[in-house]
Amino acid sequence: MESIIHSIRDYAIEIILMLTLAASVGFFGYLGYGLVQPAPDTITFSGEEALAHVKTQLDFGPRIPGTKGHKALGDWVIRELSEGGWEVFIQPFEPLETVEARNILAVSGSGPAVIIGAHYDSRIFADADPNPANRSKPVPGGNDGASGVAVLMELARSLNVAASGKTICLVFFDAEDNGRIPGWDWILGSRFFVSRLDALPKCSDPEFAVIVDMIGDADQQVYREKNSTEFLVNAIWATASELGYSEWIIDEPRFAMTDDHTPFLEANIPAVDMIDFDYPYWHTVEDTLDKVSAESLARIGRTLEVWLEQGAPYIRDN
Ligand SMILES: [Zn+2]
Repeated sequence: MESIIHSIRDYAIEIILMLTLAASVGFFGYLGYGLVQPAPDTITFSGEEALAHVKTQLDFGPRIPGTKGHKALGDWVIRELSEGGWEVFIQPFEPLETVEARNILAVSGSGPAVIIGAHYDSRIFADADPNPANRSKPVPGGNDGASGVAVLMELARSLNVAASGKTICLVFFDAEDNGRIPGWDWILGSRFFVSRLDALPKCSDPEFAVIVDMIGDADQQVYREKNSTEFLVNAIWATASELGYSEWIIDEPRFAMTDDHTPFLEANIPAVDMIDFDYPYWHTVEDTLDKVSAESLARIGRTLEVWLEQGAPYIRDN
């Protein structure tokens, strides 16, 4: 398949083509909703593949907006996904006047749009490091950044998009992680993304958003995040339980986060943040590859794979 990379700034003509496509395949996609029940042997998400994607990201160095490593990592994401048959859109924005950033959107399938997102930038300073001498150094972002992107990249390979009956919108958010640094704030990329939702190709009216962030810790404890939409949490955590992951994806509430799910919630779009905030290396120079495990990445990836391939079922309680 030929790779397709667009800038969202000039997609106006493409939208007509897309609407035609959606009209022709959307109906059949919708018929498939909820009918496909994947057997365990159809789970293809590989924790080892995902872990390799963490290493690849760390090899680019810190992914600080405006730096070479950040640009190279974004280019890698775009290249890999477009070569994998995803339609890729780039959404440029300027978090600071002097800094260029971009959200990356990869789209496949037909039917209602759903967003699966992660931030791909890493934090400028390791200001939570116990050693003051390290606090002006960058965060390697093995878990905080690379783990979420790794899950999305491996989902892009392994997910049976047709079985989901959805338009899958993988979003790589930029400029998430520089809150409390002068001139910056948290979640700048997702804020920009949601503020321009109407102009997005294919993903402008998402049914929900699922964010994965800091989910690769070898000592994994992903609790129910308190700001997340409850009926979605119920559904995803139930799938994790069915897969035998309750020890790690824990059915108890803990932490209320500001993260890339926040702008979606503020726009009344149901959203979930899958995050393991019990991570002693958060915003330190020790947030490195050895803290992340293939098993942890696999539990998150497989939970999402199975739930999505079932048609992302949930029971709305309101
Ligand atoms: Zn962070």
